[in-house]
Amino acid sequence: MNRISHWIDGHVVASTSGNSAPVYDPATGTQTGAVDLASIDEVDAAIAAAKEAFPAWRATSLSKRAEIMFRMRELVDANRDEIAKLLTAEHGKVLSDSLGEVARGLENIEFACGIPQLIKGDYSEQAANGVDVFSIRQPLGVVAGVTPFNFPAMVPMWMFANSLACGNTFVLKPSEKDPSVTMLLAELLSEAGVPDGCFNVVQGDKVAVDRLLEHDDIEAVSFVGSTPIAKYIYETGTRNGKRVQALGGAKNHMLVLADADIDMAADAAVSAAYGSAGERCMAISVVLAADSIADDLVAAIADRIPEVKVGAGTEPDSEMGPLITAESRDRVLGYIDGAAGDGATMVVDGSVGTPSDGFFVNPTLLDHVTVDMAAYRDEIFGPVLGVMRVEGFQEGLEIINANPYANGTAIFTRDGGAARQFQFDVQVGMVGVNVPVPVPVSYYSFGGWKASLFGDTHMYGPEGINFYTRGKVVTSRWPDPATSSVDLGFPVTR
Ligand code: NAD
Repeated sequence: MNRISHWIDGHVVASTSGNSAPVYDPATGTQTGAVDLASIDEVDAAIAAAKEAFPAWRATSLSKRAEIMFRMRELVDANRDEIAKLLTAEHGKVLSDSLGEVARGLENIEFACGIPQLIKGDYSEQAANGVDVFSIRQPLGVVAGVTPFNFPAMVPMWMFANSLACGNTFVLKPSEKDPSVTMLLAELLSEAGVPDGCFNVVQGDKVAVDRLLEHDDIEAVSFVGSTPIAKYIYETGTRNGKRVQALGGAKNHMLVLADADIDMAADAAVSAAYGSAGERCMAISVVLAADSIADDLVAAIADRIPEVKVGAGTEPDSEMGPLITAESRDRVLGYIDGAAGDGATMVVDGSVGTPSDGFFVNPTLLDHVTVDMAAYRDEIFGPVLGVMRVEGFQEGLEIINANPYANGTAIFTRDGGAARQFQFDVQVGMVGVNVPVPVPVSYYSFGGWKASLFGDTHMYGPEGINFYTRGKVVTSRWPDPATSSVDLGFPVTR
């Protein structure tokens, strides 16, 4: 059985904590590995390695750091298939989806290759007589990243690419459910030329996370995961004086207006609800259908569901794989069962006809969902799409804005004016116009509002660079010492 250990100071380090957690192949339900769970001492060792590596890494020239990022870009590109295979083996998502995840992660490394340009400051000559003022951005020190199971390669890349490029050193605590891919990424970073100690991986659970949150040498924490844990990370980290960005869960609505193209909206809804078995924080889980087209839209979505090929992620023709764990599957089945009891109409019941092995739930479609149902209120994180019927734009907008989550949303319409109004009024961080999964490209930043993000800074892109650096402003003058005199007045500029 595969044992997955830590990566500390440039080497694989086996844990001596005596604690481990099982890792499964979700397509078969069999345990394939065991991941070490770090002790406090092991977390401290990773932080110590990162602290020791920091002075030399921050002093490494921008061109050199960019060169290393370019090499990492080439290595990830060359190893796409291997990364994707490892990802599918432990997460369960289909190979094409894993390759997509690697591709979107890679774009963050490509963004970080531009670090000499991204980290530039401003310069004002003659701010006062003979005085120049300029701003610089400097790295923070040791930064921690805590990541979720659903994007075990991409989310770490969201974090470490910009963080390392800015000159920080990094300690990553990946999800214990699919940890192997981060060890491969650590090897590739090392091969790319990232010095030992600059990038470390501690495998672990709450013990490791809590140590990162309380350790004096951790300057900042980037977190992605569920809302209750995001809130906990934000509150604990900031209480301990750290800079924190904590991205949480989601309930993403797709508003389909009466003038939308029904087939296009149905294609989009099926893709966005069932892709990665609904285990995406940007998955669409609610369709708000204008009354006049709702019957046609529900029928069009239902027609497409039998065509979705559910199977092991390694099968070339599979389009949707299993859920991550047996608990996850049982939780999702509970929501399906509960929705029927709460009065939703079961259009397609995904709890039936699933493969006997593995953690599968088939695509599920509920109609006549209402805001009081648990299947609406909670993040299900499975292949369950609920349809709610609305009068039109205004009611749809009000429902979206009343929801506590605010990660992503989409509007489907041919009316540019309605789309513009939606973009203007909707209280959600990432908005799609005829785009169901509007994950921003790497040169914008990713983040929701309300219960989907705690902290002020979104992840990656320009906000990522800001998060991983601190500003400094220098006011400088080189007067002739002969002109020097005592002046107790407040310095003036004119
Ligand atoms: P999770 O919150 O259970 O775990 C995330 C990380 O936190 C893991 O590394 C885990 O080990 C750690 N953790 C779990 N419980 C903890 C505790 N009590 N104390 C300290 N650390 C703890 O999330 P998950 O199930 O791995 O991922 C799915 C969730 O992540 C969903 O809610 C999804 O919406 C969300 N997510 C959000 C985004 C986003 O960008 N907003 C992106 C991906 C996933």
